[in-house]
Amino acid sequence: MTALSDLIAAADQLWPAALAEPWDRPGLAVGDPNSRVTHVHLALDVTDATLAEAANFGADVLFTHHPTLFRPAAEVTTVSWPGRLVYRAVQHGIALFSAHTNADSAAGGVNDVLAGLIGISEPTPLVPNDDDPRVGLGRVGPLSPPTALGQLAADIARALPSTASQVRVAGDFDELVHTVAVCSGAGDSLLDEPAARAADVYVSADLRHHVSIDARARGQRGLINLSHWASEWVWLPVAADQLRHAVPGIEVTVSDLRTDPWDFAIAQ
Ligand SMILES: [Zn+2]
Repeated sequence: MTALSDLIAAADQLWPAALAEPWDRPGLAVGDPNSRVTHVHLALDVTDATLAEAANFGADVLFTHHPTLFRPAAEVTTVSWPGRLVYRAVQHGIALFSAHTNADSAAGGVNDVLAGLIGISEPTPLVPNDDDPRVGLGRVGPLSPPTALGQLAADIARALPSTASQVRVAGDFDELVHTVAVCSGAGDSLLDEPAARAADVYVSADLRHHVSIDARARGQRGLINLSHWASEWVWLPVAADQLRHAVPGIEVTVSDLRTDPWDFAIAQ
């Protein structure tokens, strides 16, 4: 029998909780560590839809990248948010577990998967961890082979699941890109890192107006802005394979539900 505690121990080997940022709240949010696990369902977010899907699949665990109880919930009722997610999870006997910034930083985690998909060879952390410089937030490295900015953005757009957020680019379409810095998810905060500034292009999601203008004014030649959901969803199939290896005998499935908040875009 596989207990939830066995799954948590395996997850901690792959994405050590010690690598999580101090403000983060990954790990077990809902569940009994002694309960039996036969089926783990992976999604980027706990939403009404992904939770219903997990229940339909008969999963005992909904494993997500984003923590459910990131902010404290004052109520756990069917009419509160995010309290109703906790209510429904308990109702269906589904544990809620997440690997967030620890999975971003870990070797082979979210940023390594995204860097590999972009074509960065031998990526190293953009912000190395103090205790272990082989892990950390973001990745940077040479692009193999060097590619024009517009072509690189088109290649990334093809490699990611499509979203209304699309792929937006700042910079010269034809400029040859030799080095790329990347940060999965919301990457405003790493834009000013020396290794990001030194790269020809910075690839991330949720890049805001002012920080992007500032970065361009400081000399950042290229920015590629992705959908937050798409930039991190690509990690889920890899994480699922790692869990299948680490915890043999359990079923592991990945949700294709788009939890990107945008439904459509109007081209102008
Ligand atoms: Zn994220």
